[in-house]
Amino acid sequence: MAKEKEFVKEITPQSEDFSRWYIDTITKADLMDYSPVRGCIVFKPDGYELWEAITRELDRRFKETGHRNAYFPLFIPESFFEKEKEHVEGFNPELPWVTEVGGEKLEERLAIRPTSETIIGYMYSQWIQSYRDLPLLINQWANVVRWEKRTLPFLRTSEFLWQEGHTAHATAEEAEAETRQMLDVYTDFVENELSIPVIRGQKTPSEKFPGAVATFSIEAMMKDGKAIQAGTSHYLGDNFARSFEIKFLDRDNERKYVYTTSWGMSTRIIGALIMVHGDDRGLQLPPRIAPTQVIIIPIGPAKTRERVLLATDEVYAQLKAAGIRVRVDAREDLSPGWKFNEYEMRGIPLRLELGPRDLDANQAVLVRRDTGEKETVSLDDLAQRVPVLLSEIQQSMYDRALAFRVERSEPVSDIAQLHEVVRTKRGFALAGWCGDRACEAKIKEETGATSRNIPFDPPQTLSTCVSCGKAAAHTVWFARAY
Ligand code: AMP
Ligand code: ZN
Repeated sequence: MAKEKEFVKEITPQSEDFSRWYIDTITKADLMDYSPVRGCIVFKPDGYELWEAITRELDRRFKETGHRNAYFPLFIPESFFEKEKEHVEGFNPELPWVTEVGGEKLEERLAIRPTSETIIGYMYSQWIQSYRDLPLLINQWANVVRWEKRTLPFLRTSEFLWQEGHTAHATAEEAEAETRQMLDVYTDFVENELSIPVIRGQKTPSEKFPGAVATFSIEAMMKDGKAIQAGTSHYLGDNFARSFEIKFLDRDNERKYVYTTSWGMSTRIIGALIMVHGDDRGLQLPPRIAPTQVIIIPIGPAKTRERVLLATDEVYAQLKAAGIRVRVDAREDLSPGWKFNEYEMRGIPLRLELGPRDLDANQAVLVRRDTGEKETVSLDDLAQRVPVLLSEIQQSMYDRALAFRVERSEPVSDIAQLHEVVRTKRGFALAGWCGDRACEAKIKEETGATSRNIPFDPPQTLSTCVSCGKAAAHTVWFARAY
């Protein structure tokens, strides 16, 4: 790979080969590297910095909704998996096992966690005794392992980073409300911080989490028209409570099973961020999540350099004091033009150019990454103007992504049409579905599209099944997905 990387001078245009564009972009922007372990990537500092910004914003929202962080072990005893039948069947093909330590065989194999419902369920059965212990609202930041057959950096890796929330409640209604609340939290985060519009809805039974009663998801459209499941929230009913004997003494003096939920968002969201906003020049980061929002580039000949640098220092201090994440690139051995390209490729939302002639006029030039628009701003107004521009960029990136998705989405009434929408036009197809698994499987086989979700508010309701022509029980989004 190292060799191949040296030759990534230019980024392959999206229209030529979107997958190639994606790999070129994340490699050139120095977000990740491949590792010697199959399907596992290294998060380099620029990539990890993005994850840190994501975790900060999510964590804040989790805490505002009453959750606290805890940490559970990486290893899960085999017997725990056996307790929930659907769960073990769903995850078994992807589980790596620790079977021996120091040359000695373990009495019981240990799975490396693919998700922590089982071990957390076991702990909750010990912690929860009475209604006073409920609700129990815990989140964990962790790495998990799922030995995936097909992998792609960020989007699908064998080891990934995520958060997993696990809550226990006294009633089904409370647990259902929590499941919906966390889908709202994800929606708010993804739409407002990442400028990614999402479709909210319920997964069909064949796509739901193994062991869940119901799975809800937010789905986003990438620039190649494919879907990414950006986050999931599961209502687990009393399934895990029964498997792990999580019971509490209620106010009426009866011992009852609790109702649980779990919800997760992973480093996959970094891949979505790149595929929704990136263009042929590279990354494009929404201002609210961008680790650097403004890059200041001093320009002009050597003889004015000192004067310009003094002024950039002042502008830097002014913007920093206004709470803006700003950096200066004053390296002398690189031309301004080279730097312009470099920071466009890295997706920094705003560039600020400052040269001797600007100084004479007491102004600076601001250039937007999203539109390329330039404007001159008085040095006295910078601290007011920059935040306004940043929020305009944030909004216009969202609007653009939404317009793109709407334009690439359409209702279909038979499989041939569905095939055309997802493969030829590369978009999302809205279709009626009778509820029969066989119809869903047939669609997947003939078009490569999977059901994304049954949206809460579809643009329209369809009355016949796209596959068999019988009455539709649901209106479903279908798309090819990462
Ligand atoms: P799940 O526990 O299957 O509901 O997944 C929780 C979150 O992790 C979802 O947002 C998934 O999209 C994401 N996810 C699942 N598998 C992977 C993977 N192999 N790599 C990265 N993210 C994943
Ligand atoms: Zn059907």
